[in-house]
Amino acid sequence: MENNLICEGCGVELQTINEKEIGYIPKSSLEKNNLLCKRCFQLRHYNKHETVALESDDFLDMVSSINTTDSLVVHLIDIFDVEGTLLKSLPRIVGANPILLVGNKVDLLPKSTNQRKLKHWLFSKAKEAGINVVDVYLISSSIGHQLDELAVEMEYRRQSKDIYVVGVTNVGKSTFINQFIKRSTGVKEAITTSYFPGTTLGFIKIPLDRDSSLIDTPGIMNRHQMAHYVSKTDLKVITPKKEIKPRNYQLNESQTLFFGGLARLDFVKGDKQTFVCYFANEVPIHRTKLENADSLYERQVGELLSPPDEVTLNELPPLVKNSYRISDEYTDIVFPGLGWVTILNGEVTVNAYAPKGVAVSIRKSFN
Ligand code: GDP
Repeated sequence: MENNLICEGCGVELQTINEKEIGYIPKSSLEKNNLLCKRCFQLRHYNKHETVALESDDFLDMVSSINTTDSLVVHLIDIFDVEGTLLKSLPRIVGANPILLVGNKVDLLPKSTNQRKLKHWLFSKAKEAGINVVDVYLISSSIGHQLDELAVEMEYRRQSKDIYVVGVTNVGKSTFINQFIKRSTGVKEAITTSYFPGTTLGFIKIPLDRDSSLIDTPGIMNRHQMAHYVSKTDLKVITPKKEIKPRNYQLNESQTLFFGGLARLDFVKGDKQTFVCYFANEVPIHRTKLENADSLYERQVGELLSPPDEVTLNELPPLVKNSYRISDEYTDIVFPGLGWVTILNGEVTVNAYAPKGVAVSIRKSFN
């Protein structure tokens, strides 16, 4: 923006172009005395918080300053999209500070899920990525599950220091922070006076006590998230809104399942068995013969096999095949950001297809 106007709340450079991006201010507000970006304005006037997004390089530049602080880091991820939301660059960003890993949206998991196993898997995923975490919490920001317990843990771990909350967009960071604000009685007044001169560039501070704050950092956009390949309408369809109902398919070899037209699983070889599918209840699953699958996809993608809708189809990278030979029983094929399929007996060969850039993976099932 001309004259490089700065938000008086968080110090970020103001812009009037993109509401979803950092530093947005409506043109009409430029005349005001107190110039606040939308994020600071909402926090200040409504105690409501909103996460904004940054591209990865800007994000890294900005949040890497955390590594020069002495603080606790809370890394929020979406348990339905661990590959897409776990920040591999976290150690670089936060330096030696302790990291609490928090898996959000557990309310969507079927009741049968063994949360102890899920927690264990998250520990190992973090370790694989070179991220040392002090503990893992499974929460639901929207229904408040485990939030009080997490708040106690954060209080204990922070040892009177600041807390930085870090996460990819769409993991539920705003919902989490809003819940946190709501629950922190006595802090309300402090929030409205949370007013920091432009030194922190986009970090929003929510005072915890006189000397320390919970600090929100801008959300990072991860281009490998399924969420970035689909239209808004499709995102609504593929994002579970309530507890997922597993759908069972008895499959013979040489059969294929389509998950809308966004992913596909071929049962290439093995004994007849059950494939348990965990996707948003609104995602249609279509079964066909493997030999017909290619032509069905060509003819019906966006029609019978939808989502994708027309908008998504224009952007969607081609589906890419990954082959797996699976020996173990209870193995999950994971389509990050979309769902997963549990193969009950094992001893199978399967091909799993997802849009190029979305990394399919396998894991031991949580059930
Ligand atoms: P942010 O981009 O990280 O700030 O994410 P938001 O807080 O805006 O949340 C992204 C989407 O996830 C919204 O549709 C929320 O309603 C939803 N969401 C956030 N937390 C939860 C949760 O614990 N459970 C469920 N089911 N949805 C959630």
